Amino acid sequence: MSLSISNDSLLPGRNYIDGAWVDAADGTTFPVSDPATDAVFTQVPNSGAEDAKRAVDAAQKAFASWRKVPAKQRAAIIKRWNDLIVAHTEDLGKLISREQGKPLAEGKGEVLYAASYVEWFAEEATRTNGEIIPAPVPGRRMYALREPVGVIAAVTPWNFPAAMIARKIAPALAAGCTVVCKPAEDTPLTSLALVKLAEQAGVPAGVLNIVTASRENTPAVVDVWLDDARVRKITFTGSTPVGKHLARRSADTLKKLSLELGGNAPFIVFDDADLDAAVEGLMISKFRNGGQTCVCPNRVYVQAGVHDAFVEKLAARVGALVVGPATSASSQIGPMINARAVEKIERHVRNAVENGAKVVVGGTRVQSEQCTSANYFAPTVLIHATPSMDCSCEETFGPVVPVTRFETEADVIAQANATPFGLAAYFYSTDVRRIWRLADALESGIVGVNEGALAAEAAPFGGVKDSGYGREGSTHGLEEYMHIKYVCQGQLD
Ligand code: NAD
Repeated sequence: MSLSISNDSLLPGRNYIDGAWVDAADGTTFPVSDPATDAVFTQVPNSGAEDAKRAVDAAQKAFASWRKVPAKQRAAIIKRWNDLIVAHTEDLGKLISREQGKPLAEGKGEVLYAASYVEWFAEEATRTNGEIIPAPVPGRRMYALREPVGVIAAVTPWNFPAAMIARKIAPALAAGCTVVCKPAEDTPLTSLALVKLAEQAGVPAGVLNIVTASRENTPAVVDVWLDDARVRKITFTGSTPVGKHLARRSADTLKKLSLELGGNAPFIVFDDADLDAAVEGLMISKFRNGGQTCVCPNRVYVQAGVHDAFVEKLAARVGALVVGPATSASSQIGPMINARAVEKIERHVRNAVENGAKVVVGGTRVQSEQCTSANYFAPTVLIHATPSMDCSCEETFGPVVPVTRFETEADVIAQANATPFGLAAYFYSTDVRRIWRLADALESGIVGVNEGALAAEAAPFGGVKDSGYGREGSTHGLEEYMHIKYVCQGQLD
């Protein structure tokens, strides 16, 4: 089945280890399919322990020289990578959309979003300054240097196949680290294409290595990296259970960790909010990628005075969303990534209805001439949501908006924080004193105030509590890949 991209060299279809495109050591492959139709596009290597070890061998060998490449030269290579990604926006956007399912405009938007991180970290590469520390005694010089931590293992999710690679690999390379990467099994093609472009940009052999694996083979690959003391850091985006497993399993080699995990974002609308802006903000933050983003609102709380008016405006907008495949220009909500994802959404809606929620719009799968696989779910608004429903406790990761009516600020803060997660939180209010209070009170790594689109390469992205630790983007995103060495020189007088 054709992916209809213009540059076939973006589809290497193999692992990249030590500067060579290679098959899995045992020659096996697994299929990559189109969530819009379930048809298989192609096969990629089903790597195992041997491939994982070869990737670390190459990354460890390359680290000795890459860390010594002057920062300005590393920056130039990463900048060239950015330029190549931007130049291939059309093809990469198609690739993302076809293997992940998001509408083409969103796919292309993700390419530019990913590139913005690559460009940012190319620039940051030259700013890893150290510190001179005033010595407490004569004849001493004390200083602190920033050094790359070493070999990095990156494990990425499927929902932003380009951006997640960019946010991890660009800062690692900028810091002088080398990388082994295992992309999500649902979306390996975009990652391989990005590595192909990194090769063209001049990233030396061994500095960036990627191996693909099916979900079944993934533990065999990642366990090798977890147990190998040469891998000094794991950077992971994905679910909280897998993040906790990585933290536990890497304890024996005391790796540095960045964990961008699941969320359960509250979205709060107060009586004093600009209702149209709040509806617009919710549409943007909730329905990007069909609700399959870790920062998208999962629980919507609307104050009693505006509840009915808000729901009416929201339902009109949600009911008008067009569901369809990425190949159709009019599609706004694509297929969900796979059968497992749709089953979870269906379970959440069923559980909510059984426990007293009412479906205002949507609520079922979509089957039509255009929507031929079983992976499409109608954009849905539920009212009368309560804290014990599955949709309030777990991340739905789909186009479902459960709305809860609330009375007081204190009550909604308590409800919003009553979750183990803490990635993003949003609220709409025009009361400046309330805005300061809420921004302080919400337990999350990211807060949107009268704003639904939060992510930017210059901003620190990450969570608290069960949503993980570490930050991506901003100057903090580079620090994650460096450690500090303190040097004290005496006998200078
Ligand atoms: P997942 O955790 O199952 O998979 C993510 C990655 O981990 C994939 O590459 C997968 O192959 C790998 N993986 C799975 N089992 C593993 C194991 N035992 N050992 C090592 N690696 C393993 O998550 P998913 O279902 O693919 O993605 C959805 C979840 O990811 C959601 O919970 C979502 O919130 C979260 N997510 C978080 C962010 C963020 O930035 N915080 C971004 C995207 C997705």
